[in-house]
Amino acid sequence: MLSRQRFETDRRQRTEPVPGQGNRIARWVPSRILELSPYHADSADGLLKLDAMENPYTWPSEIKDQWLQIISTVPLNRYPDPQGTALRQDLKTWCGLDLAADLMLGNGSDELIQIIAMTLGGRGQVIMAPEPSFSMYSMIASVTGTRFLGVPRDTEFRIDLQACLDGIAEHQPCCVFLARPNNPTGSLCSNETVHAIIDAAPGLVVVDEAYHAFCGHTFLDRITDHDNLVVMRTFSKLGLAALRLGFLAGPKNWLDQFNKVRLPYNVNTLTQVSVRFALEHMEWFQGCAEQICNHREQLSIALLGLPDVQVYPSDGNFLLMRMPRGRGTEIFQCLRQSGILVKNLDGSHEALADCLRVSVSSTDDNQAFVAALRNSLETVDLRESS
Ligand code: PMP
Repeated sequence: MLSRQRFETDRRQRTEPVPGQGNRIARWVPSRILELSPYHADSADGLLKLDAMENPYTWPSEIKDQWLQIISTVPLNRYPDPQGTALRQDLKTWCGLDLAADLMLGNGSDELIQIIAMTLGGRGQVIMAPEPSFSMYSMIASVTGTRFLGVPRDTEFRIDLQACLDGIAEHQPCCVFLARPNNPTGSLCSNETVHAIIDAAPGLVVVDEAYHAFCGHTFLDRITDHDNLVVMRTFSKLGLAALRLGFLAGPKNWLDQFNKVRLPYNVNTLTQVSVRFALEHMEWFQGCAEQICNHREQLSIALLGLPDVQVYPSDGNFLLMRMPRGRGTEIFQCLRQSGILVKNLDGSHEALADCLRVSVSSTDDNQAFVAALRNSLETVDLRESS
C-alpha cells in the first residue's frame, strides 16, 4: 500500500484551491494526476484490429469445448484462491523455475508494474527505462509520485549502455525496466547489456519478457545468479489477452515485499482455472507463435517493398514502421478509413515521429494491411501533389 504518511503529506499541501480552479478536483487531486492523460486505446469497432499485439487465432472448437466444461464448474459464489497456489505451481513447472525462486501473479503485467512502483517508488525515488519503451513504465511512475528517467536509445533504437550506466550512477534508481524485446521498437538488447545494467543497478532490474514467445530469449534461468533481478511475463500476447494474467518470477525475498502491496484477490478464479487449462495446451500456443514469426518475416519483406516506408527489425509479434516525414498521422487516419486500426505513435515520443506499429496477424490480415497501406501512401501522395 502507498504509505498513509505520504498521502497525508500530499493532502496537507493542498489545503488552498489552485488559483483560478477553485473546485474540489483541483484542490484534492494531486497535480501529478491532474497533469496525466488516461491511457488511450482507440475503439476498434468495425475495424480490423492490428493495434495491440494480440494473437489473431482462437482455440479450435475441441479445445474450446473442453475449456467450457471446466469453467462451468467454477464456484462463482466463492472468492478466488488469494495466492493462486495451483496456478503458480503449474507455472513454476512449466518454466522450470529454480527452487530458490518464486512467482507472483498479476492482473496482467500492467498490475505487476504498478505493484513494483508502489512498493519501491514514491517521492524522492527514480524509476528508469531506456526510451522509447512501454508507456506504462513512465505513466505508473507518475501515478505513484516517482520520478521517471527515460534514457534515450540510439537512432536504431538500441540501448545506449553508457548513458544507462551514467544514469544509474547519477540517479540511483530504485528500479530499472528493460523490455526485451522492446515495445514499440521491436528491438532486443544483448545479454551483455542486461548483465551490465544488473551489475551496475543499486536497486531492482525488471526484465519484461512480454514478447518472449516470439524471440525465445529469456533471463528466467538467471534469476538465482543475482539478488536484484526479476523477470516479468504475460499471457496476453500468446493469445489470452482477455483473461489478464501476468507473472513475476524472482527471488522470494523481493516477492515477499511485493505481496504485501498486491491486493488479495487480484487474479479471478476464471482466469486461474483457464490458464491452468491453457498450460495443458501449450503446443497450440507455441504453434501460433511460430506461425506469427514466419508471418513477421513475410510482412516485413512486403513492407520493405513499399516506397518511403522504413521498417525496423522486430523480435516481437509486431512491426514498427516510419512513414514519410510529416505524414504519419495522416496515413494512420487513411488506414482507419479503410477499416484498419494500427497504433499511431506519431507524437507519443520525439524519437517516434511518423511511426506506426502494426501487429503481425494472419496471412489474410497482413495482406489486407499491406494493400491498405499502399493505397494510403498513394492517397497522401496525391493530396500532396494536388
Ligand atoms: N510489457 C510490455 C513490454 C508490453 O508491451 C505490455 C502490453 N502491451 C505489457 C507489459 C502489459 O501486458 P499485460 O498487462 O497485457 O500483461
